[in-house]
Formats: sequence, C-alpha cells, structure tokens
Amino acid sequence: MKFAYAMPTKVIFGRDCVKEQGALLRTLGDSALIVTGRSSAHNGALRDVEEALAANGQDYTLFDRVTPNPAVACVREGVQLAKAAGADFVIGLGGGSPMDAAKAIATLAVQERADDEIFAGGYEDRALPMAHIPTTAGTGSEVTPYAILTNDAMQTKTSITSYAMFPRLAFLDGKYMLFLPQESTVNTALDALSHAAEGMLSRNATPLSDLYAEESLRILAPILPRLRGALSADDRDMLLYASCLAGMTIAQSGTTAVHGMGYYLTYFYGIDHGRANGLLLGETLRLCCEKGLAQADRILRALHLADADAFCSLLSSLLGRREDIPRERLLDFAGRSVSNKNIKKSIYEPTAEELARIFLRSFA
Ligand code: NAP
Ligand code: FE
Repeated sequence: MKFAYAMPTKVIFGRDCVKEQGALLRTLGDSALIVTGRSSAHNGALRDVEEALAANGQDYTLFDRVTPNPAVACVREGVQLAKAAGADFVIGLGGGSPMDAAKAIATLAVQERADDEIFAGGYEDRALPMAHIPTTAGTGSEVTPYAILTNDAMQTKTSITSYAMFPRLAFLDGKYMLFLPQESTVNTALDALSHAAEGMLSRNATPLSDLYAEESLRILAPILPRLRGALSADDRDMLLYASCLAGMTIAQSGTTAVHGMGYYLTYFYGIDHGRANGLLLGETLRLCCEKGLAQADRILRALHLADADAFCSLLSSLLGRREDIPRERLLDFAGRSVSNKNIKKSIYEPTAEELARIFLRSFA
C-alpha cells in the first residue's frame, strides 16, 4: 500500500464555535478581508465573526459582493480591496462561492497572474492565511485546497489549487443553515453526496479518503430521503459533518466524472452546482456498476441501497422535474467532456459513447 495524506486545516465544529473559539482568529493576522455574499448578513455568521474580530482587537474590511459561480473579475475586485486595505488574512464566509473566491483572493493577493494565466496551474505554496465559515452544507470547500472559478475561455468551471489554499481554520456551526431554503439544502446535500461517491471512484483515492467517504455516505443515508421534509437542528449538524468529511475526501482524491460533466450544465444552463452533480450521478454510478467496479458496490452498501435502480430513484425523488435540454446540446456537452481533466481521474474512464449515454439518460 502506498499513499500520502495531508489535512492541515484545524476544524472547530459545534454550536456557537465562532463565539467560543473566535480568539483563534488572532493567530492569522491583524487585519482581515471578509469575503462573503449578500445572504451572510441574515444567517448570523457575519455578526458572529464581526464580534469575534472586535473582541480580538482586529480590523476588517468587508467584501460582500461575491455571486454564485465566482468569476475572475470578482476575484480581481477582492484582491484590489485586500491590497488597498492592507489585509494580512482572509475570512471566507458563505457557501462554496464566497469560500472559493476567498481562496483565490488570498492567493492572487500575493502572486501576480495575468488573466490568461489564471488557470495555467503551477501556483506557488503562498497565500494569505485563511479562516472559512460555511453557511451551506455541501461543498466542503472549508477543508479543500481548491478554488473553482468560472473559466470563460474554456466555457466551463476550472479549479485552481496549491497547498497554501487549505484554510488554516474552519469553523462549522449548523445553526447558520437552520433557515437555508429547501432547494439549497437539497442541492448542497447532493454536492456532498457526489464528493463522497466520486472520491471513491477516483484513481487518486486512498484508504483514508475512502474512510471519510464511507462515513460521509453512512451519515447521509438516513437524511437524504427526508431532505424535502422538516429538518431538525441535529439533522443540520449531521449534514454539515457529512459535507466536511466529503470535503476531506476530495481534498485527497479530487472530484471525477460527475463534476467534470456537471460544470457544463452550470456554465451553459445556469444549473446550480450541486443539482448539476445530482442530475448526472445516478447514471454515472449505474455505469460503474455495469463495469463491475467494487467501489460502486461499496458506495451502495454504505447508503444501504440494493442497486443502481434504488440509487437513481432516490435521486429522482430529490431532483423533481428535470430541465428540458435539447438532445444536440447534451451530445455537445458529452463531446466537451471527453478531454476533461476530472474525467481522466476516474477509475473507470467513460468512453465518448458512454458519456453521451449518461447525459441523454440523465435528461430522458
Ligand atoms: P453558493 O453559490 O455559495 O450559494 C448559493 C446561494 O445560497 C447564494 O445565493 C447564497 O447567498 C445562498 N446562501 C448561502 N448560505 C445561505 C444561508 N445560510 N441561508 C440562505 N441562503 C444562503 O452555493 P454552494 O452550493 O454552497 O457553492 C457552490 C460553489 O462551490 C460552486 O461554485 C462550486 O463550484 C463550488 N465548489 C467548491 C468546492 C471546493 O472544493 N472548493 C467543492 C464543491 C463545490 P449569497 O448571495 O449570500 O452567497
Ligand atoms: Fe462540488
């Protein structure tokens, strides 16, 4: 057996953790750039962070204009603000979009890159130190070294990464999700489910990433069928924990075919990230079952599901009516997917015909 393992983010989990452990933010610097979106003012997270910074005697500047699927222009705006304010650390607060924007800002604030070099890779391990506070339970971005940005040149979404993009601190409090709308709750849970499943279907999976993935799936199993009903505070905590474990999974393994395909649905049709994954996950797992992958069986067992049909019907009950996307568009997405770097990381790399079949059956 051979593998490497690193998870440098200190995770603080539990009710009121920002209030109780906010002094930890002192270790990051004197002046913060808080990177967030519009809703953060309403779920209580921003207030908790502002109070913690005030108690620590730390300054901050607020950048609250991050929109879903952040673009390079948004990151540039944040970098300018960070530099103008003399920020020496960054707090990413919100769903995956603000957290990813925060990582890119923290990196580009200390490494110059022309626009056409942003997705060229080769980032040095340097970034402003970060603390992340998720307000959705799905992306796991608080424990991954990836920032996913809209890539207009390639007409998709692409990750940038370096070891320094792991946040130093992650504060996880399910109370910020108590009033998360049902649609966002379902979509983000589907993202976490995808991370756990795709992580196990990755060529880069390790015994430890599988351990996190299977535990994440076991936690999600009893909650998934109830996502469209009322959720308790305990359910919210467990969704957040499962999402964090799934994030720790992909921090090691990366994402694979489902994310690679799903980015086209988001780029061209504006379909929410987690929903895009959920739409494609069932048929992708069915293919893996047909190919006899032991990992596919392990995924189903961890979810207490008998077969791919049971998995697909669970997903269908959560997804509701699927979008109408013309056949030729779906075939175009399948064609674009063939050379996608995430798909090449899959243990079983679908052929061009199989990618087309996944897209067509997912919208049949
Ligand atoms: P999001 O795009 O961050 O947020 C979606 C919507 O939910 C926004 O309108 C947001 O409002 C709102 N929202 C967030 N928290 C809320 C709360 N507590 N109550 C009410 N509304 C709330 O969605 P997401 O699914 O969390 O993140 C998706 C992004 O993460 C994608 O860009 C995806 O590519 C990326 N991602 C990253 C990783 C990684 O490892 N880095 C992994 C998976 C996905 P605001 O306007 O305030 O933001
Ligand atoms: Fe994701």
